[in-house]
Amino acid sequence: MKAIVVGTGAGGAVAARELAENGFEVTILEAGKPFSPLTHMISWFRSLRGSWFLKDENSIEHLFPHYEVTRASHDLAIFRGVTEGGCTSISCGNMVRAENGLKEIGLDLSIEFEEIEKTLTINPIPRERWRPLTQQMYDKAKQLGHEPKPTPKVDDLGKCVGCGYCELGCTTGAKWDSRRVYKDYLDKGISLSTNTTVQKVLLDSNHARGVVVTHGSSTERINADVVVLSAGGVGTAQILRASDLPAKDNLWVDVVLTVGGVSKDSHMLSEPPMAWFIKKDNYILSPYFDLLSYWFHKPWKSVAVEDRVGMMIKLADTEQGTVAADGTVTKSLTRADYESLEKAKAEAKQIMEASEVTGPFVDGMVHGGHLGGTVPLTKEDVETMHPSWLPQDLWVADLSLMPRSQGLPTMLTAAALSLRVAKRIVEKKT
Ligand SMILES: Cc1cc2nc3c(=O)[nH]c(=O)nc-3n(C[C@H](O)[C@H](O)[C@H](O)COP(=O)(O)OP(=O)(O)OC[C@H]3O[C@@H](n4cnc5c(N)ncnc54)[C@H](O)[C@@H]3O)c2cc1C
Repeated sequence: MKAIVVGTGAGGAVAARELAENGFEVTILEAGKPFSPLTHMISWFRSLRGSWFLKDENSIEHLFPHYEVTRASHDLAIFRGVTEGGCTSISCGNMVRAENGLKEIGLDLSIEFEEIEKTLTINPIPRERWRPLTQQMYDKAKQLGHEPKPTPKVDDLGKCVGCGYCELGCTTGAKWDSRRVYKDYLDKGISLSTNTTVQKVLLDSNHARGVVVTHGSSTERINADVVVLSAGGVGTAQILRASDLPAKDNLWVDVVLTVGGVSKDSHMLSEPPMAWFIKKDNYILSPYFDLLSYWFHKPWKSVAVEDRVGMMIKLADTEQGTVAADGTVTKSLTRADYESLEKAKAEAKQIMEASEVTGPFVDGMVHGGHLGGTVPLTKEDVETMHPSWLPQDLWVADLSLMPRSQGLPTMLTAAALSLRVAKRIVEKKT
């Protein structure tokens, strides 16, 4: 039985492995190139800050092509990893169960979460490895009545040098990414083709029969018995639309805004990002040096790297973005999103001020990179994990399936959803 899996991120990696373990001959098609970290070039990169080369967020694509930047509206930029490992290769290594909206549709992923967690080493960064200001902000947040908790990380802490550049890739191999999930199966049930972009799904009488890909200047058809789309919330919706199939205008991105303050010689970049977090109803707060704002966002420019302090807000945003067949994303923040951000900003400022961080307090760039919701599961689909409006033998196995935004890290959830889908494919096809 031949299966095509599109994408190597959290969803694609897990689906490919599960199918290969169950006897499928799997071809993974990945639009991006093999991943290599930028970290080794960082001092050179730093010297370009403020120059024409780093004039806006799109500049990052020239220096680090694994990032893809899309402007969804004047108030929101979208970032994603188009590379082997997808967004996991540029993640901060945070690993938590994000389950917002699952109970409502009757989906319990506990078994899949456990199965995946068992294969990983998940631990918080020990407090003694946090910068002194990060420790102080944790204590003050607690005194102020918030409930901060050390962030679970999927890292080999023995190898982590605390460089702070997780999102540009890890040079020491400390940080997990989804390439590890399938690497032992390469050429043993899984073949991987990078730099290969799936354009559309080949359909025949409401059955998927394969895909059309471009690889450099050539276009090719690849046939399969099963096609699994794991191209992420934007990529999967784009392929569906280009195949004349619907995707839902329900894109969410988990909006990030980092409030910047100042503390002399705090050296916040010299620790792993997001060492602890506070969970509120629809957002988290977490200490974070926002590299994107530091490089590209004018209000952040006047403060030196060693003095800049950031408190991230990651908000579960209103699910209402759209993705077009050409990949154009359209999404704005709603009034409710802005109201939640205002409340969160006041708390971020309160914690920083209590920790003797001074102003001016400035907003960072508003962006999002947890992309989901474009093929949202409903109660009726949970048993089969196959949205009823998709053709036979065409499956979706990534964060697109998650109906609601999370305001929390999402790799584990994408992986767990995908594992459940792959199990259903195996049941149905073998
Ligand atoms: C900067 C950043 C930091 C993050 N940090 C964390 C974190 O610390 N913890 C956490 O839990 N989550 C984090 N996330 C979110 C998390 O990584 C994603 O939510 C998760 O990886 C989603 O998995 P996915 O399989 O749905 O999509 P992705 O991981 O995005 O994978 C999609 C894959 O499909 C490929 N693709 C897209 N279109 C095509 C096409 N047409 N043809 C072929 N291939 C295609 C892409 O190249 C990619 O490899 C972060 C995200 C970003 C952007």
